[in-house]
Amino acid sequence: MASFDLLVTGGTLPDGRVLDIGITGDRIAAMGDLSGSDAGEVIDAQGDLVSPPFVDPHFHMDATLSYGTPRINASGTLLEGISLWGELRDQATVDEMVDRALTYCDWAVSLGLLAIRTHVDTTPDHLNTVTAMLEVRERVKPYLDLQLVAFPQDGFLRSPTGRQNLLRALDMGVDVVGGIPHFERSMDQGAASLTQLCEIAADRGLPVDIHCDETDDPLSRHIETLAYEVQRLGLHGRVAASHLTSMHSMDNYYVSKLLPLIAEAQIAAIPNPLINIVLQGRHDSYPKRRGLTRVREMQAQGIRVGWGQDCVRDPWYSLGTGDMLDVAFMGLHVAQMTSPQEMARCFTMVTEDNAAILGLPEYGLAPGRRASLVVLDAGDAVEALRLRPDRLCVISKGRVVSRQARNDARLGLTGRPQTVRRRHTLPPH
Ligand SMILES: [Zn+2]
Repeated sequence: MASFDLLVTGGTLPDGRVLDIGITGDRIAAMGDLSGSDAGEVIDAQGDLVSPPFVDPHFHMDATLSYGTPRINASGTLLEGISLWGELRDQATVDEMVDRALTYCDWAVSLGLLAIRTHVDTTPDHLNTVTAMLEVRERVKPYLDLQLVAFPQDGFLRSPTGRQNLLRALDMGVDVVGGIPHFERSMDQGAASLTQLCEIAADRGLPVDIHCDETDDPLSRHIETLAYEVQRLGLHGRVAASHLTSMHSMDNYYVSKLLPLIAEAQIAAIPNPLINIVLQGRHDSYPKRRGLTRVREMQAQGIRVGWGQDCVRDPWYSLGTGDMLDVAFMGLHVAQMTSPQEMARCFTMVTEDNAAILGLPEYGLAPGRRASLVVLDAGDAVEALRLRPDRLCVISKGRVVSRQARNDARLGLTGRPQTVRRRHTLPPH
């Protein structure tokens, strides 16, 4: 008789399979019909969705949970947010930033979000942001994978110490090279920044993740330069372009030339729908542009696209919970990905697609992989998007790290059911 530390029984996987998962140590030991097995603890997932953990490929953890300090962003624009953050990052201590980040990571764990790539501002010479996030990466390591991107918020070339401080951050142990070409002083300087950043990544063998063309300007075309540098330097498959909002407004003929170049360079795209729909189109009257990049069109070309969170309670966004299902829900609406296949893809975009973008080893539900999973109070992946339900159990690296009781509403109506869960499955046909 097989024996496991943990046994998750009867769960429905995102692909529709219904099976048991046996966990020994930090590994998935077996999957299938494991009835009759012995286990230290049995988690009954009958009728519930069992998913690999959520992954966020784009976040700003040095700024999170700082909303309202030093002031609220009155205009709601990207640029006022950048200027507010410029004040805050010099006032906040390392301890404050660590505390805010750890609180956010607690939220993330309770929601089954177990891997996050966060951009870390490398602009200030004191680099307190980097010191704080390196500490957080170590503290959460036993249960949450944190990747750090060296992000020159005020410009790699525009800020006098932009290049020097980005290199210092990489020397301190930051994992990924970042950039912000649309914020440099000119289009030429933006292109020059990409050339230098890609050369640094090639020299050091690091991945790249660029805030790329986060603007409504249809002529902001740094993604073209990025694709060129990737093929020139052979960085295929390890570069991501975040936002790409200018592509929403670009000329269609130009996009028809651009997308195959992005596909050829194997650049992944990371739109951030909550933030893009809030920040873009602010200078438009009506009709107002949505500012979300061309998700379905990129996927049709074989380009990998993952949904990112970007901000929670910070100078750019006053809301947010850390729930990647909120992110996918907004993305599904704004990109109009409403067919059953497209909705299912939106779930994959916050799990497996994002794990591939981060290059996470041992991710996924299969024997031999790391035992990290989430039990959700939903029947399938699309219902999880519709309900954004409670995470009944979160397991990270073989350990239960969060539990939540099923929380059905209790009705006080004569002749109606006593409890309501809001589940709704299609009748069989
Ligand atoms: Zn960002």
